[in-house]
Amino acid sequence: MKAFDSFKDNKQDFLDELFDLIRIPSISRDKASVTTAANWLDNKLKQTADYVEQIETSGNPVVIAEWRPQIDEISSSVSTSILFYGHYDVQPPDPIDEWLSPPFEPEIRDGRIFARGIGDNKGQFFAHIVAIECLHKLNKLGVRVKMILDGEEELGSPYIDEAINKRKEFFNDVDLVIVSDGPADPTWKPTLEFGARGIITVQFELQTAKGDVHSGNFGGIQPNPVWDLISILKTMKSDQGKCLIEGFYDNVFTPSEAALKAAEDLDRDPEIYKKQLGVTYFGEEKDLPLTHRLMFRPTFNIRGICSGSVRENARTIIPKEVVAELDIRLVPNQTPERIEQLVLEHLQGLKEKSQNYAQILERCKINFGTSFYPMFTPLELPWTDILVKSIREGFDEEPLKIPLAGGSLPLYSLYKATKKPMYIIPYAQPDEDNHAPNENMMVEWFEKGVKTSIALLNSLKE
Ligand SMILES: [Zn+2]
Repeated sequence: MKAFDSFKDNKQDFLDELFDLIRIPSISRDKASVTTAANWLDNKLKQTADYVEQIETSGNPVVIAEWRPQIDEISSSVSTSILFYGHYDVQPPDPIDEWLSPPFEPEIRDGRIFARGIGDNKGQFFAHIVAIECLHKLNKLGVRVKMILDGEEELGSPYIDEAINKRKEFFNDVDLVIVSDGPADPTWKPTLEFGARGIITVQFELQTAKGDVHSGNFGGIQPNPVWDLISILKTMKSDQGKCLIEGFYDNVFTPSEAALKAAEDLDRDPEIYKKQLGVTYFGEEKDLPLTHRLMFRPTFNIRGICSGSVRENARTIIPKEVVAELDIRLVPNQTPERIEQLVLEHLQGLKEKSQNYAQILERCKINFGTSFYPMFTPLELPWTDILVKSIREGFDEEPLKIPLAGGSLPLYSLYKATKKPMYIIPYAQPDEDNHAPNENMMVEWFEKGVKTSIALLNSLKE
């Protein structure tokens, strides 16, 4: 592979460039750094791309780029057009004192690059850019390549539709969409994912009194918002892990034969998960196989509850308020709108059922947040073989085919714009620790990513 040789010859230069990008602390809400990162990418992409634009939105800019096939590589009049999606915003580095090296000063230790945003997602999309550049330099880029770099993925990409709608024609002739994000499978095998679960979040904010009070002096009369909210939440989930909201499972898709077969081929060992997660038992729907729970089923998760004060700040009080947030992961055919409606209907039902629930809910504010549609590409399409072959070439190993990945990405926006199949090929190893201190990406995995992207771009022109 000539293009990969060219990468190896210039590896240090590419890493230096990636490190420059990493040093820009483009945390989603840090407007100045986000702008610097977008400008950096704009300049970088302009070195080889035929077209680059920063699309302004009501939030952070979205950077798009396009490379047309190079002249001596156009073998027929029809050329495949591939779209890569990535995001250049990063999570905040907190808790900062748990980092062994400064989060925005990349450092290589034991073959891993440590830095905030290296795996999620700068290192991963940069592997695509490197692959494109290496082919371009040799005049061997034989397909149309497009790229979209999101600046607000970590906030749920609230304005990506706005950006896409401004440049609809850019997405018209795309044949397939590739996203490299998230960690590879926990078994350390290279991974090809055919979709992702969707999500909707909901926040319950219950204030039952004017202030926190002494739990001895007022215990017995001031209502406790935590207990009250728990009584509401308990109506939504059974001890067996089933969501009790009526209609919640109604639209859940039936996986195809190929999807079921792929799930079976994963041959998941519960013990590996127990070890990796440090758990002694599993959550959610206890009557279903592990793989189904991980990819074919929705979840109903409390992502946090906040009230009163505990541990070293403990006070013997009745708190005045509680905030609880849920994230609900959705599978194909479920929509955020429908789930929102079902949650509201459930709460309405409670109000009508009992005076007790009614008076709690009267004081409870309910806000729905981030939502993504679930996305699923059938395994039976011809792209599957091309992708498997490219990953095999890049990683020197047979990839796992995962019908539905756990995380949620703004894939539905891209699907709406392109109506084309989309795939996720993570280039970060399973313990990348994205969103956590000491986020890292193995140099070896970065290189395998570059090699995979080169193989893919080569095989698409055949
Ligand atoms: Zn992330």
